[in-house]
Amino acid sequence: MTTSSYDGRALINGQRVAALDGQTFDCISPVDGRLLTQVARCGQRDVDAAVAAGRAAFEDQRWRGLAPAARKRVMIKFADQLLAHADELALMETLDMGKPIQYARSVDVNSAANCLRWYGEAVDKIYDEIAPTASTALALITREPMGVVGVIVPWNYPMIMAAWKIAPALAAGNSVVLKPSEKSPLTALRLAELALEAGIPPGVFNVVPGFGTEAGSPLALHMDVDCIAFTGSTRVGKQIHVMAGQSNLKRAWTELGGKSPNIVFADCPDLDKAVAAAVGSIFFNQGESCNAPSRLYVEASIQAQFLEKAVALAPGYVPGNPLDKATVMGAIVDQVQLNSVMRYIDLGQKEGATLLAGGQQVAPVAGGCYVQPTIFAGVTPEMTICREEIFGPVLSVLPFTDAADVVKQANASVYGLQAAVWTRDINKAHGVARALRAGTVHVNQYDEDDITVPFGGYKQSGVGRDKSLHAFDKYTETKTTWIRIDSPVQS
Ligand code: NAD
Repeated sequence: MTTSSYDGRALINGQRVAALDGQTFDCISPVDGRLLTQVARCGQRDVDAAVAAGRAAFEDQRWRGLAPAARKRVMIKFADQLLAHADELALMETLDMGKPIQYARSVDVNSAANCLRWYGEAVDKIYDEIAPTASTALALITREPMGVVGVIVPWNYPMIMAAWKIAPALAAGNSVVLKPSEKSPLTALRLAELALEAGIPPGVFNVVPGFGTEAGSPLALHMDVDCIAFTGSTRVGKQIHVMAGQSNLKRAWTELGGKSPNIVFADCPDLDKAVAAAVGSIFFNQGESCNAPSRLYVEASIQAQFLEKAVALAPGYVPGNPLDKATVMGAIVDQVQLNSVMRYIDLGQKEGATLLAGGQQVAPVAGGCYVQPTIFAGVTPEMTICREEIFGPVLSVLPFTDAADVVKQANASVYGLQAAVWTRDINKAHGVARALRAGTVHVNQYDEDDITVPFGGYKQSGVGRDKSLHAFDKYTETKTTWIRIDSPVQS
């Protein structure tokens, strides 16, 4: 066990600083249990300092006062910095939260960089509006940055989740205070350093690592934070909205949990593709994806055939050392999450589901947190594994009889993040897609993704949308300016 050279200090007002009370916490790798470094355990006073730095930067206009084209250039440099440090960031992400290095490099770094670049490029192409009022007045409808944006993110895609929020918030001219998850704080701190090197002025982008109740709550409750953008569990998301209401009615945006239904009809155009997508999507990122299709509904007439193919694919996802470039499934983020996944696997068996594959903890690397890709059949709607988000590599398979039956089952969830339908019948595809209560519905695939499309949920999967131009709405206020025109010139 060694402490690495990773710097775990907070980044406030352009400086790396220890927590004001000197407290730290251990940053442990789930790959093998090694101690990576000590991280600043920020609390109220550190959050106050970061918010004050963000406010000062906002007030003196060192960032928002730049022309959009100038902010664009810096954002693009920021994106380039990520790519220039791609190997370093990917390794840090893998060591910190356990995902396979090949995906940390090809997905997480690239996607975060692309997000920063895309919002940078967008910001000098968005025009404000003039309302169609009477000719005796001019009504300008303009967008203005909100001020200080608090960002709280989870550990499953630490860089991407942060980028989805900081990119539009910064591009729009706001200051940001980011609190990464205590389970994956390292890349957020490095991103803030790279932002400084790219030319984002000190104070504009601050990072306060720490625990939810110690650093997250002070940010959500802060009277000088104008907006809080949160990604995480529905349980904490609800508290975020309460804290926003209890304090200064800051704008609160939440991207929360999911239990996404994946519906395969017997007339699915390509069964092998549907099986590969069903299995690949639930096991990608160790099942730690909010939009993972964790409820699989297969039309009863093809279920046996489907399951045989799915079970045959499962061994291809057996966990390996995340640092090995060939590994496709890595480590669960920590022992707490691993215990939670194992508890659900146990509950699935106790409540009567049939374990078809996996179900065991394994140890491809000593001291790490690993679990086999797991498939349950014979799942019923009342079972806990059908209702609750597991956030691990566990697939629950249920049968259905017809479209009406499956739509009813699919919508019987507190969540509404994503869904999918597989059929060659265009009427059925459209009909079911319309009936599903979800922010995104896939038809005959599950992997399409692009920064240009909104991402977010219905129901208790959250409030608001990340990605796309719609995300700017979250980080800007709409202002109307009426200008009286007393004496229109007569022509
Ligand atoms: P979590 O809610 O436990 O923690 C998320 C963040 O909130 C962390 O930074 C944590 O420190 C902080 N936090 C915890 N308690 C807090 C409090 N009282 N006040 C303020 N902040 C607090 O979630 P997690 O375990 O880190 O992440 C997994 C969850 O995130 C899953 O439910 C998953 O579905 C969800 N998620 C959603 C999306 C989406 O876009 N909808 C994306 C990724 C993850």
